[in-house]
Amino acid sequence: MTGKVFLTGAGPGAIDLLTVKALRVIREADVIIYDRLANPDILDEAKDGCEFIYVGKEDSHHTLPQDEINEVIFKAAKKYEKVVRLKGGDPLVFGRGGEEALYLKERGVKFEFIPGVTSAIAVPQYAGIPVTHRGITVSFRVVTGHEAAKERSQIPWENYRTDDTIVFLMGLHRLDYIVKKLIEIGKPEDFPIAVISRGTWPDEKTVIGTLKNIYEKARDLPTPALIVVGEVVKLHDQLSWFEKK
Ligand code: SAH
Repeated sequence: MTGKVFLTGAGPGAIDLLTVKALRVIREADVIIYDRLANPDILDEAKDGCEFIYVGKEDSHHTLPQDEINEVIFKAAKKYEKVVRLKGGDPLVFGRGGEEALYLKERGVKFEFIPGVTSAIAVPQYAGIPVTHRGITVSFRVVTGHEAAKERSQIPWENYRTDDTIVFLMGLHRLDYIVKKLIEIGKPEDFPIAVISRGTWPDEKTVIGTLKNIYEKARDLPTPALIVVGEVVKLHDQLSWFEKK
């Protein structure tokens, strides 16, 4: 008999941002395979005897290569009835949940996706930055900063001239390159940008700056961190509610 795999979003950090559905499968799981980004306190919710497998990866520093992670999940499904694959944020926002699901599907293993609160929206929100705001921006995009800094990047920088809010995940280590590119395509040097470190955690920290000075101000912030570019960043002053001043 083969078990079922629940590709589950753990939310951005704060444990109370876990969904009710995610909590239910976590409590019923026979094995939980988890990442570095998922809040480890979530594991306290598991039943007695639940096995925990850490396949920690953050940004590009994969502890296990993806094909090995796929195999770990597959083997777990051979052994157990209920397998939870727990991922930071939402499993399908740069979470490789789709790849894992395809791997399972090709091998006849049943799976289910459980959405999570993505850091891309919730972390700016905890910093008092709405990703859309009437009169300021009508759309937002979520981009991988990891890809952004590659030699032959697939990122169409030219398209970023618009007023979209841009959220870069996995971008802190490429912040200097990202701001250089944005200035190159014509964004003004004093354009607003924020870096939010450890969003929704008790030690969340937001640094606000401009394309010109953000690198100096934010480069050493602890990870995970994300970058928000856009006029909406200016709302932080009035809407910041979570961080202690
Ligand atoms: N699936 C995840 C994103 C995975 S990519 C989601 O939906 O949130 C990992 C990147 O997410 C990190 O490099 C960082 O940019 C961002 N991230 C995740 N949690 C974060 C947090 N609590 N605070 C700031 N950024 C976070």
